[in-house]
Amino acid sequence: MIYLQHPMVEECIAPDAVDEDKFDRARRIGWLDIDSISKSKVLMVGAGAIGNEVGKNLVLSGFKDITVVDMDRIVHSNLARCLFFSDNDAVEGKLKAKIVAAGMNALDNGVVAKPVIGTIQEQDEGFIRQFDIVLGCLDNVLARLHVNSQCCFHGVPYIDGAMDGFNGKVQVIVPSAGPCLECGMNDTHAKIIEQRFSCTGNDISLFLPKIGAEITTTCIVGAMMVREAMKLASGKQEWVIKNVAYYNGANNSLDILEISNNPECPNHS
Ligand SMILES: [Zn+2]
Repeated sequence: MIYLQHPMVEECIAPDAVDEDKFDRARRIGWLDIDSISKSKVLMVGAGAIGNEVGKNLVLSGFKDITVVDMDRIVHSNLARCLFFSDNDAVEGKLKAKIVAAGMNALDNGVVAKPVIGTIQEQDEGFIRQFDIVLGCLDNVLARLHVNSQCCFHGVPYIDGAMDGFNGKVQVIVPSAGPCLECGMNDTHAKIIEQRFSCTGNDISLFLPKIGAEITTTCIVGAMMVREAMKLASGKQEWVIKNVAYYNGANNSLDILEISNNPECPNHS
């Protein structure tokens, strides 16, 4: 048998041995800590378009312990952006969280992906505290702000992804180390919250128009989110996006905007 010797490796290895480890190529990226990644407990909030991409990327990056929270059912308009959904899933109106979790489990026998059916707001107080990293794959501001405040309170890093047509946005919130989602909230978000608590102080239902979406921007947002999770799980907190990345697929630009802590933000008191 022929043995090869890598110039950086002292021991000789059989040529086939390098292909027996699924993560052999990833392990060659020196700083990437695949063992820590595999032990991280991850929460995905949302199992829609971004959630499908994030779920796929998490598994292929070596994450093993993944919980998926979503309450929605699959419809035909999801199918052009969702790897794990089929026509039949839409016909039967299957639950997104169940199908995404099943798809992740099927990608790797070592993965334990668990679906939780419901909204993130319905989960027990302290639910988020059990996780090492939270990825927000949400389509509404109120749920985002809820996850953001819970992550800040419990000290859990939060990676939020969003898109609108060919525009994508990824924000990384490292509690106590910088600004949160609410610190960077704009007037539109504030208006939605005002509407939510108008008149009676009770929640009201809002009808928000559907926004444009397509798969390539979804892929880029989902990939950026999981890449930041890989950095956090590998102990490279200093390398994460500070604080918001804006991607524009129409003009091929990526801009990083550093935001400040808002002294009036309730999440830092
Ligand atoms: Zn804040």
